Amino acid sequence: MLIVMEHNADPEQIEKVKKAVSALGLRAEPIPGSERTAIGVLGNRGWVDDATIRGLPGIREILHVSKPYKLVSRDFHPRTTVVRVKGIAIGGGERPVILAGPCAIESEGQVLAAAHAVKKAGAQILRGGAFKPRTGPHTFQGMGLEGLKILRRAGDEVGMPVITEVMRIEQLDQVCQYADILQVGARNMQNFDLLKEVGKLRHPVMLKRGMCASIEEFLAAAEYILAEGNSDLMLCERGIRTFEQATRNTLDLSVVPIIQELSHLPILVDPSHATGRRALVPVMSKAALVAGAHGLIIEVHPAPESALCDGAQSLTPEGFSSLMGEISQLYEYLGFPG
Ligand code: PEP
Ligand code: MN
Repeated sequence: MLIVMEHNADPEQIEKVKKAVSALGLRAEPIPGSERTAIGVLGNRGWVDDATIRGLPGIREILHVSKPYKLVSRDFHPRTTVVRVKGIAIGGGERPVILAGPCAIESEGQVLAAAHAVKKAGAQILRGGAFKPRTGPHTFQGMGLEGLKILRRAGDEVGMPVITEVMRIEQLDQVCQYADILQVGARNMQNFDLLKEVGKLRHPVMLKRGMCASIEEFLAAAEYILAEGNSDLMLCERGIRTFEQATRNTLDLSVVPIIQELSHLPILVDPSHATGRRALVPVMSKAALVAGAHGLIIEVHPAPESALCDGAQSLTPEGFSSLMGEISQLYEYLGFPG
């Protein structure tokens, strides 16, 4: 429930509303705005009977939010969140941010080659998986801790923050030690225990949409992280399962404007996992930016033909560099010059 106060409501009236909310055993969280204060009500499991609140002075309206999320909602937080990672701003009206690098960390040489290439082409954040959620157990599962160290060294060498996936609660300490952004992957979008633990941290997070998750489920999963206090969260659309077999997943681009309407969280797009095909990555990258994505996360490998994971969807350094040239032309058109 959201209680919107009149623009001239005084602190005493706000205090009375907070007390009335507490008397119901719920938590009141004032959200000061430029025009008026709103008071978010937290802790309720279902519909809240507002009989003891409704008549209090200074209240303009009471909005009953029946959705399974509240903190991620724009009703609750009208201004778009900007997540800051080592001076890079993701979200809001900022220029979109490009995250790029290999699917999996395979060796120091491979990550360094990728890091130098994506940095030179203009990417701002380096990606690379050390813990890989693979479909079958007989495939490369990632380098683990050694991979995290390689990623950190490569990021430091080229001066880029790094993002990597965390699959289990027990990995959180290590991943936080080496990575600037934690990635919660599609397969873990509804690993609620992991989401809660990630929510207790003060470390930026990128939550990917589950391959069979509705937008409402996606936002409800994000709510778990915000509800524990971590508000440095960005979302990522990475394609969903449909009947279509021509692409690895179906890129649901309409999610971008829909999430922007429903939520204040930044929304990024992963055209690599969404399509599974290198040739489709550039056009879908540009389409995502036109749709309003706050950033892209793109797989780039120095030698995709010998990649241990996702080579078919990985751009070559040359391919990435030429895409970045096209993106910078697109920025002019989208109103993000220079
Ligand atoms: C990845 O980014 O490497 C990855 C495994 O993505 P997803 O969780 O979207 O499948
Ligand atoms: Mn991958």
